[in-house]
Amino acid sequence: MQSTGALGKMTSKAMLQFVTRAKEMPKKRGAKQRKQDFDEIYTDFIAEKASEQAGRCSQCGVPFCQTGCPLGNNIPDWLMLTAEGRLEEAYDIASATNNFPEICGRICPQDRLCEGDCVIEKGFESVTIGAVERYITETAFTEGWVQAPTPTTERPESIGIIGAGPAGLAAAEQLRRQGFQVVVYDRYDRVGGLMIYGIPGFKLEKEVVARREALLRAGGVEFVLNCAIGTDMRFQELREKHDAVLIATGVYQARALDLGVRYEVGFVAALDYLITANRADLGDKTDDALAVAGKDVVVIGGGDTAMDCVRTAIRQDAKSVTCVYRRDRANMPGSAREVENAMEEGVRFEWLSQPVGVKENKKGQISGVICQRMRLGARLGAPDPNGRQSPQAIDGSEYTLKADSVILALGFEPENMPTMFDAPSLQLSPRGTIDIDWKTMMTSLDGVFAAGDIVRGASLVVWGIRDGRDAATAIAAWLNQNAPKIIKQAAS
Ligand code: FAD
Ligand code: SF4
Ligand code: SF4
Repeated sequence: MQSTGALGKMTSKAMLQFVTRAKEMPKKRGAKQRKQDFDEIYTDFIAEKASEQAGRCSQCGVPFCQTGCPLGNNIPDWLMLTAEGRLEEAYDIASATNNFPEICGRICPQDRLCEGDCVIEKGFESVTIGAVERYITETAFTEGWVQAPTPTTERPESIGIIGAGPAGLAAAEQLRRQGFQVVVYDRYDRVGGLMIYGIPGFKLEKEVVARREALLRAGGVEFVLNCAIGTDMRFQELREKHDAVLIATGVYQARALDLGVRYEVGFVAALDYLITANRADLGDKTDDALAVAGKDVVVIGGGDTAMDCVRTAIRQDAKSVTCVYRRDRANMPGSAREVENAMEEGVRFEWLSQPVGVKENKKGQISGVICQRMRLGARLGAPDPNGRQSPQAIDGSEYTLKADSVILALGFEPENMPTMFDAPSLQLSPRGTIDIDWKTMMTSLDGVFAAGDIVRGASLVVWGIRDGRDAATAIAAWLNQNAPKIIKQAAS
């Protein structure tokens, strides 16, 4: 027997294997093969490997991995249970704090979250937390342990949720479990938000999201799709239909880049490009003009969206794909793992380079991007709020990259929600996101709550889940307080 683990039991002999057992990720399909399709590139762990890798955990008394996880997942406990082959118990613990552990296991940037904070990372490489989380939940699906959120008792209060992304869906599940009547509205024709239309299938296959939708429907969550609130239904009408409302609409407005040129010719906004590619992957009829087969493609930006664009372009058989980013590789905001995957698949990176103009051919079509070299240095500009160094341009360093399609992946901003919803008293933060009281998750409108990217700005699925869960707790508390009033109103 060894030290006491977080489960409150003695840590089993299966644990603390990190000194003798190297870190291993699940098998990754070869770049040549995976470039041919939009299927996920990682396979699932086999049982033996999951158990071996979980056993590398040292069962820290103060588990920093848990602090690094936005959901505060009880990681050491489910790792120990996996190492011991007690997977049903592991699943119970993993699903107690996370509505979609199989999704987070696939697409969380673990190197910046749980695994980045794993203490053995320093000398021995972190425990593969995300891959084990995925394995536990996939096993739970296979074994039939994952249940629809069917409540034991029904409650009369009804909640309207605007947005079927991770924030809206996590809130819907939490509220439905407690018996509330939940209706989720979305302007898209499918459930999942950016998990369906933003994130490509090679990171998250669409069936994984559809499987969750089916469970929510089976548990009694109602979906109203192809319904844009503000256009197809007035926001005020929605408020009148429900006892509480949650706004979880995400952020969709692309940030622009001023190159002093027309944007119509040869330029594509990242999300327009990805939505079209995702629709094609789902078998929908799409606009061929946005496909890049045979083209020289330049993607501008260094975040996860940029990585999804370059890797999609590779799969669409572009002639060449180049990513232009103004800082160096170490300072890229995107996941290091995704950058490595992109490089393996043949994407060229122009680090420390900034677009300053474009070249057009005689037909007025884009033929190249004019770039300027940049440099970073301790004495050059203060770090930005994220601690990344500010780059400075090198005079006279301009050069041209051949390009007939340019994809702009410079981030997203919120749409103007008070205008969209015709609700002028809906208060915004200086960044244009919806302002909430973080203790109650309520907006400036009584009984209207908000969660996810529309509150935080462009963020991560795992933060959407966290916010959706917090909003559900806050909505339930508010409804409990207001229940007598609501029932009286309904009766009158
Ligand atoms: P969303 O997922 O955006 O969902 C909002 C929903 O609201 C949408 O379905 C939208 O149609 C609907 N909606 C909006 N307005 C209305 C309206 N007026 N009426 C009705 N419905 C409306 N995160 C990760 O963790 N890992 C990744 O690998 C990752 N990759 C990404 C790749 C791309 C290309 C992008 C764009 C984002 C990525 N993210 C990733 C971020 C992640 O997808 C988002 O942070 C997350 O989806 C936000 O969840 P949400 O529920 O707040 O909003
Ligand atoms: Fe890590 Fe994300 Fe899972 Fe948390 S939810 S343990 S951050 S993979
Ligand atoms: Fe295990 Fe790493 Fe978490 Fe420590 S920090 S409990 S070693 S996963």
